[in-house]
Amino acid sequence: MDLSLTPAQQEIREAILKVCARFGDDYWLAKDRDGGFPHDFHRAIADGGWLGVAMPEAYGGSGLGITEAAVMMQAIAESGAAFSGASAVHMNIFGLNPVVVFGTEEQKQRFLPPLIAGKEKACFAVTEPDAGLETGRIKTKAVREANRYAVHGQKIWTSTAQVADRVLLLARTTPREEVAKPTGGLSLFYAALDRAHVEARVIDKMGRKAVDSNQLFFDGLPVPLEDRIGEEGRGFEYILHGMNPERILVAAEAVGVGRAALARATRYAKERVVFGRPIGKNQGIQHPLAKCWMALEAANLMMLKAARLYDAGQPCGVEANAAKYLGAEAGFEACETAVLTHGGMGYAKEFHVERLLREIMIARIAPVSRELILCNIAERALGLPKSY
Ligand SMILES: Cc1cc2nc3c(=O)[nH]c(=O)nc-3n(C[C@H](O)[C@H](O)[C@H](O)COP(=O)(O)OP(=O)(O)OC[C@H]3O[C@@H](n4cnc5c(N)ncnc54)[C@H](O)[C@@H]3O)c2cc1C
Repeated sequence: MDLSLTPAQQEIREAILKVCARFGDDYWLAKDRDGGFPHDFHRAIADGGWLGVAMPEAYGGSGLGITEAAVMMQAIAESGAAFSGASAVHMNIFGLNPVVVFGTEEQKQRFLPPLIAGKEKACFAVTEPDAGLETGRIKTKAVREANRYAVHGQKIWTSTAQVADRVLLLARTTPREEVAKPTGGLSLFYAALDRAHVEARVIDKMGRKAVDSNQLFFDGLPVPLEDRIGEEGRGFEYILHGMNPERILVAAEAVGVGRAALARATRYAKERVVFGRPIGKNQGIQHPLAKCWMALEAANLMMLKAARLYDAGQPCGVEANAAKYLGAEAGFEACETAVLTHGGMGYAKEFHVERLLREIMIARIAPVSRELILCNIAERALGLPKSY
């Protein structure tokens, strides 16, 4: 399998880096301090036609694969925009894949073009406070009422809900006790986020202040039948379909953040003189940086392998999970090493590496934790019994 980027993929990377060059470290530092969604950045990416990179051409997209989407998202993160930039567009890149695959023609015509044009933003609400990673325990329910549903319940960590127009929502339509499997009886909706029926409360969090994460409170949100994606009760299956591409994208983004940190650390190591020589002349500084480079590049190869498999229509669950794990860990190691390489200045905001260290933590936790990935690899790659 050839994992090198094709000239066309290389061009995507360069074009994105060019757009991102307009949004430098100081832009993201201000966003990190003051918050506020990076609308101008989102608009610049939309205007370049990039939001539809992996969406079908029939709806205004470019019809490219997850590999190209990963190249794009990695370039955003690597530019220094990190997760503040990547998460601002992430959901629009592949989040609506369940609609592409399981939606009706009418739904695709209605939902995809405004998203691709950057006229609408979407958020994704699965996680709940009392369910955590055990999706079968979610309690938010969509109650059928003649020609619509009414949604009641709570979600947590829903990113971009402050600015989103619509929410891709997983809710229970059949009680858990009445279905054969706990993940049965869940349905998927792409609902208008009507603020009269949904309160979005921002979570004060460790980093990525520009991209909000929220607690959502649904109080009878009306959702017309025509906004249900696919069949009632099969929502979990539909979101499973989008999980591998999501992991691939997060892996690519995490490697991008790690590379951003490594570049800053390397530059500082060349410039900072202590004991009469650049600190980068010491092996104690060089070796950790060299290890970070190797770990990031190895993780990137796993990411590209997973992406190539996905684009070829082959199973890629183990590779996508491994890529997400390796990317997040390599990214974290690079960010931590970058802070330490800067000494005291690593702790100062003006050198930007502490922001990267706070943001890379997201990739270690979401969309699935390290522990659950290890459980999956133990089971699927090693044939050990399912442990959870
Ligand atoms: C910044 C951010 C943005 C997010 N954005 C979104 C979003 O837009 N939409 C959305 O739906 N969700 C979002 N999430 C939620 C995210 O996907 C979850 O936080 C993640 O899946 C972990 O779930 P949890 O927090 O409920 O952890 P829990 O399920 O409570 O788990 C807690 C810890 O226990 C461990 N654990 C649990 N069971 C086992 C086991 N059997 N063996 C070993 N360890 C175990 C987990 O690995 C974890 O470390 C976001 C989270 C963050 C931090």
